[in-house]
Amino acid sequence: MARFAYHLFPYLSDNYGVLIHDPESGATAAIDAGDGGAVLAALEEKGWNLTDLWITHHHADHTDGVSLVKEKTGCTVTGPKGKSSAIAGIDREVGEGDTFGFAGAEVRVIETPGHTLDMINFHLPSEGVVFTGDTLFALGCGRVFEGDFAMMWDSLSKLMKLPADTVIYSSHEYTLANAKFALSVDPDNPALKARAAKFEAMRADGKPTVPSTLAEELATNPFLRAADSGIRAHLGMEGESDAAVFAEIRSRKDNF
Ligand code: ZN
Ligand code: FE
Repeated sequence: MARFAYHLFPYLSDNYGVLIHDPESGATAAIDAGDGGAVLAALEEKGWNLTDLWITHHHADHTDGVSLVKEKTGCTVTGPKGKSSAIAGIDREVGEGDTFGFAGAEVRVIETPGHTLDMINFHLPSEGVVFTGDTLFALGCGRVFEGDFAMMWDSLSKLMKLPADTVIYSSHEYTLANAKFALSVDPDNPALKARAAKFEAMRADGKPTVPSTLAEELATNPFLRAADSGIRAHLGMEGESDAAVFAEIRSRKDNF
């Protein structure tokens, strides 16, 4: 049973930050701090005091504000073990399978390398929520910068095993561009067509398309659908491995 309140806020051109708040203890966590001022403004707006900052990966749009937020709030910063560029200000380094507590709830760390080598995701089983950073987006996945396609497929495969009703908070509003691409590789998927139309209307209204659920992504996100016979037929890859189909889809997106 979910106990926490969640507050999504946009920053920079297309990033999302999230605050997680326990109304009972007052404990509050933030996912990433690409823009320290935006994190502090969101806290101010909600009247919440930051106790924890969880960093997904080293890219500047996720870390530039860490020192400012830490200085202003005294929060504890949890982030990935150094497998890419160092992230300044981390108090607690975590990796695959590590768990830690937040307001009495367990937080599980899932390493999902590919976009960067240091990428970690934060899963709260008791809340049914996962923060996927730049690994899994609504209808998309992160561009593979530091890892390779096989590594990214393994990472997405870990997320695919979470309970289907898991709520997915990702870090960017890329959804309409993702929808356009998804329809190019999975044009006959009625669930995808319906979801793309829904997202068009939401964005026209200025609404965020984040969060979504894993069940929705499994039904419509082509990067999770390498095993789908319709996509395989469309790509002419019926006999290939899931990893090979994923690699083809990801490289098509890179050139879309
Ligand atoms: Zn990134
Ligand atoms: Fe990013």
